[in-house]
Amino acid sequence: MPVVATKDQYQNAREHMVMKQLQERGISDPRVLDAMRRVPRHEFVTSDLHHLAYRDCPLPIGEKQTISQPYIVALMSQMLRLSGHERVLEIGTGSGYQTAILCALAGQVYSLERHARLADHAADVLARLGFDNVEIYVGDGSQGLPDMSPFDAIIVTAAAPALPGPLRTQLNTEGGRMVLPVGDDKEQYLEIVTRFGNRWQIERTTSVRFVPLIGRYGFRATRSEKDDDDQATV
Ligand code: SAH
Repeated sequence: MPVVATKDQYQNAREHMVMKQLQERGISDPRVLDAMRRVPRHEFVTSDLHHLAYRDCPLPIGEKQTISQPYIVALMSQMLRLSGHERVLEIGTGSGYQTAILCALAGQVYSLERHARLADHAADVLARLGFDNVEIYVGDGSQGLPDMSPFDAIIVTAAAPALPGPLRTQLNTEGGRMVLPVGDDKEQYLEIVTRFGNRWQIERTTSVRFVPLIGRYGFRATRSEKDDDDQATV
C-alpha cells in the first residue's frame, strides 16, 4: 500500500468511523477496515467540509455529485473480495475517495469519470497522497474500458437502469466480480455479478441510493446535465 499520512488531526475521527459506522454494521474484512482507517477522507472534500468528512453521510463534491457515505464505500469494497493482486475497473471516480480505497486493496486500478473537472481534481489528490497504482480516464464509463480488459473486479458508483452489457463482457471469465447499484431514480439495489465462463451469476443485496450513471448504457442526460457538460468543456 502506498504511503499515506496516517498521523493527522483526524486519526481519531477515522478510528471512530471504522468502529461505529463499519464494524458495528458488519464490515469485517480486515484489509477493508485497515484501508478505511488509513485513507484520509477529508483530503477528498473541500476544506470547508473537512470537519464533516468522517460523518455517516455523503457530501457534495461539485458538479451536482457526491462523495459516497463511508459505510457504502466499505460495503462495496468488501463485496469485491479483493486480495491485493487484482486489476480493478471503477466507474464514477468522483472525488477519488473510493479509488484510493481500491488502490489500497488491489494491484492496479483504472477509473473512469465523465466530468473532466472531477477527474482532474481526483487525479491530483491521489498523486499528492502517493497512490501510484491508478490511471484515471475521462469518458463514458457505461462502455467500460475495452482496451484494458479483462478486469478481475468492476465497481460502479453511480446507479444503472440495468446491468451495462459492455461491463459484463469485460469481466474476467474465471470468477470476475462486479458490484453496482441497479434501479430507477427512486429505488436501487446493490447487485453482485460473478462471471464463470459465459455464465453470470447475479445476487441482489441491499437497497441504496446513488446519483445516476449517465451514458450510452446508463440513463440519458437531462437537459440541465447537458448544459453542465457544455459549461465544463469551456
Ligand atoms: N465514488 C465516488 C462517487 C461519486 S458519485 C466518490 O465517493 O467520490 C458518482 C460519479 O459517477 C459522479 O462523479 C458522476 O459524474 C460519475 N458518472 C456518472 N455517469 C458516469 C459515466 N457514464 N461514466 C463515468 N462516470 C460517470
